[in-house]
Amino acid sequence: MSPPVKRIASNEGLPAAADVVVIGGGIIGATAAYFLARRGLSVALLEKGHVGCEQSSRNWGWCRQQNRDARELPLSGVALRLWDELTAEIGQDLGFRRSGLLYATDDPGQLQEWEKWRQTARQFDVETRMLSAAEATAAIPAAGRHWIGGVHSINDGKAEPSLAAPVIAEGARARGATIHQGCAARNLEITNGAVTGVETEQGFIRASAVLCAGGAWTSAFCHRHGIEFPQASVRQTAMRTRPAPNIGEAIYTPDCALTRRIDGTYTLAISGAATLELTPQGMHYWRPFLPMFMKRLKAVQIRIGKSFFDGPEGLSTRRSGDASAFERMRVLDPAPSSRYVREILQRVRSRFAALEKVEMDQAWGAYVDFTPDAVPVISSVDGLGGVYLAAGCSGHGFGLGPGIGALAADLVANDRPCVDAAPFRLSRLLDGSKVQVGAI
Ligand SMILES: Cc1cc2nc3c(=O)[nH]c(=O)nc-3n(C[C@H](O)[C@H](O)[C@H](O)COP(=O)(O)OP(=O)(O)OC[C@H]3O[C@@H](n4cnc5c(N)ncnc54)[C@H](O)[C@@H]3O)c2cc1C
Repeated sequence: MSPPVKRIASNEGLPAAADVVVIGGGIIGATAAYFLARRGLSVALLEKGHVGCEQSSRNWGWCRQQNRDARELPLSGVALRLWDELTAEIGQDLGFRRSGLLYATDDPGQLQEWEKWRQTARQFDVETRMLSAAEATAAIPAAGRHWIGGVHSINDGKAEPSLAAPVIAEGARARGATIHQGCAARNLEITNGAVTGVETEQGFIRASAVLCAGGAWTSAFCHRHGIEFPQASVRQTAMRTRPAPNIGEAIYTPDCALTRRIDGTYTLAISGAATLELTPQGMHYWRPFLPMFMKRLKAVQIRIGKSFFDGPEGLSTRRSGDASAFERMRVLDPAPSSRYVREILQRVRSRFAALEKVEMDQAWGAYVDFTPDAVPVISSVDGLGGVYLAAGCSGHGFGLGPGIGALAADLVANDRPCVDAAPFRLSRLLDGSKVQVGAI
């Protein structure tokens, strides 16, 4: 069951040529299309389902610097600034509010990690404040739990997953981009080691630059062209309540995370709870993912199911002869875990008196795509001219989205990058560099 997302219209007919084809209409593809079109380049944005239909409408909406890996912090600062700028330039609400984020815990180890992260925060001028036990308890009163401390990340915020990608895509169109939904990219045309166009289910577009921002599908698309992109997804569950009393804008506790949406409902989830499904792609990349797997072993359950055959990592999608694999699954919409949903509701109702009677409106599943070091890839592809990747956002891509889109657009347009792009290069995952698993 898909969560709500604003639906936008497609342009009529495919253009015969574009300066840049962007594959994937999630937050990354939409923002990259925006920044490319703003430069005056002609851009065609291709989406196999509808804009925002996968991860970008299924997340909690947190836009944060708090607890980010040092490699991501410069980009996350740019992203927060761009959320404000995009709202002003497009002139429509993206639901972005610098509401601050509140964290509380009763786990001394977790508190120590947050305290340690402040040394990183200081290097990047991130405003964050540790909360004493009394302050955390006052900020997040929860029945039956005694917080030993917490964090208030003051300048962070949240945006609205049902609005952001479609509204930004519309902003790109207002600057000249065209949007093609129900239009999967099937293959790249490569001539003499460089891209010359994209075959889509609706026809061919000539282009000398292609940005692949296909979320969880990116590695399978790359595989068809001999590009190695180590990527693996885990399945998560989230849910939305009916309109509920306001107990705060964005709250993290070890039991559950709550995010108030602009319609007065809450998105609820349990942080870190995930299922790893065995797939052919997962088996191909088991070695680079081993360090992350060992680190996260306790929070992850392992299963084998339909995703072995179909979907972004399945047998059929990796088979290059199967042109329509991306079309068969317009929207990647895995079932939510009913056990998690029951657990989340029970925890929220029992901890927060004001939410004692809160009702669920809807629950959904989603695959979150990771790289082995949990840092996105925003990069050209060595040896293949004109091909760029922006994917593997590792659970951080919504808040970072405008920054990732801006950096990808800088690379494609060969402009000065908004931050050092080296930490995001694809080659770090292929050249034997030591994998340093970042914060998730
Ligand atoms: C439960 C959950 C909670 C999360 N919470 C947060 C959070 O609070 N903060 C945060 O920053 N991040 C969060 N994330 C992560 C965030 O949602 C993702 O990192 C981000 O949305 C990724 O954006 P994307 O554009 O790369 O991918 P997607 O949004 O998945 O978009 C990729 C698009 O590409 C399309 N596509 C794929 N292949 C093709 C093809 N061949 N042709 C045409 N189209 C194609 C797909 O249909 C899809 O729409 C969360 C994720 C989940 C699931």
